[in-house]
Amino acid sequence: MATHQVTNQPPPLRGRNLFEDNLPLVEALQREGGGWASERASEVGRFWGGEPIEWGELANERPPVLDRFDRYGQRVDEVTFDESWHRLMAAGIRDELHALPWRSDEQGSNVARGALFITATQAEAGFACPTTMTFAAVPALRAQPELAAEWEPLLTSTSYNPASVPAAEKGSAICGMAMTEKQGGSDVRANTTTAKATNGGGPGAEYKITGHKWFCSAPMSDLFLILAQAPEGISCFAMPRIMPDGSRNRISIERLKDKLGNRSNASSEVEYDGAIARMVGEPGRGVPTIIEMVAHTRLDCVLGGAAGMRSAVAQATWHAAHRAAFGKQLIDQPLMTNVLADLALEAEAATVLAMRLARAYDEAEDDAAAAQFK
Ligand SMILES: Cc1cc2nc3c(=O)[nH]c(=O)nc-3n(C[C@H](O)[C@H](O)[C@H](O)COP(=O)(O)OP(=O)(O)OC[C@H]3O[C@@H](n4cnc5c(N)ncnc54)[C@H](O)[C@@H]3O)c2cc1C
Repeated sequence: MATHQVTNQPPPLRGRNLFEDNLPLVEALQREGGGWASERASEVGRFWGGEPIEWGELANERPPVLDRFDRYGQRVDEVTFDESWHRLMAAGIRDELHALPWRSDEQGSNVARGALFITATQAEAGFACPTTMTFAAVPALRAQPELAAEWEPLLTSTSYNPASVPAAEKGSAICGMAMTEKQGGSDVRANTTTAKATNGGGPGAEYKITGHKWFCSAPMSDLFLILAQAPEGISCFAMPRIMPDGSRNRISIERLKDKLGNRSNASSEVEYDGAIARMVGEPGRGVPTIIEMVAHTRLDCVLGGAAGMRSAVAQATWHAAHRAAFGKQLIDQPLMTNVLADLALEAEAATVLAMRLARAYDEAEDDAAAAQFK
């Protein structure tokens, strides 16, 4: 620059291995029974420490845009994402962040996935939302075996295709979840959206859903698990966005949320005007059915929280190591050392807890104590 030289500024934190640099995670992967995935985690760490960081920045600078109508006034309800978002999604799905335990018979596959998830989502967190929901939908869908047989191969596919065409044509699918309504989020029993059977009703049967959801993240998903009031009470339903004949289900996207964070990902308000869906599990047992999905999204909240903390520690220590003040590198100033050590300790504790929790998901089926812990 003509006026001054830029000095004492850290270089960008790029090109690091997000797994190998994270020693508490490297140790936890071994300790909790996922050591077989170490090499793979290292490869994932190398990849996500590179270009995906730029994709993440772009995806947050260029957030999704909703088009409700085409230029002729026909409803389209399409959300357009920047190319960088699709790259993040495709890479995450290629790396099985959405499906490893459902695709692998290896013991410790939830722990292995946990390590991959903590590693990759340090580059960008928004795409974790649809990735997690797709992962978490599988155990809930298994309550209705014929629906699981139809959707599980699509939801666990390692290819990503955002086109608005029937999922079976694409051979892959992303799943969202819509429970929250205006009058109640935590207390989903307050849901007023109704479900009317088109032909007798019951588990696996078709219903028409009428009402709204105040939050529906990843509204371009191919499938949604939703809650609605059937005559027997609140029930769980699987609702495709695009019908098998290529027509759009009667789901309208009213607007996108203007969020403080998670901006790369779209979260929407939707209305259902007789949208077609099929019941998952028993009528009136919607909460116990969808809780399987919710429980798996909670695991990812813990893993994702640990990833965010680790990322913050990496940024803070990198900055302090490359910036000097009052004659020393900041990292060597005693008060700063204390602050950074506190942050590092808390991030390490979060990583240890998250990976221990992932192990409980691996052991829950055969071990009552692990099921309790989970
Ligand atoms: C970015 C984002 C994306 C989202 N995406 C989705 C989505 O895809 N699908 C979906 O269904 N929902 C989604 N949600 C909604 C989310 O699930 C709800 O916000 C959440 O369930 C809380 O509901 P609420 O906002 O209505 O808060 P409320 O239920 O009104 O709670 C308000 C406060 O009261 C507290 N509280 C509630 N009950 C109790 C109690 N019994 N005892 C003590 N305290 C209590 C809560 O912790 C909270 O602090 C999303 C939310 C956000 C922010």
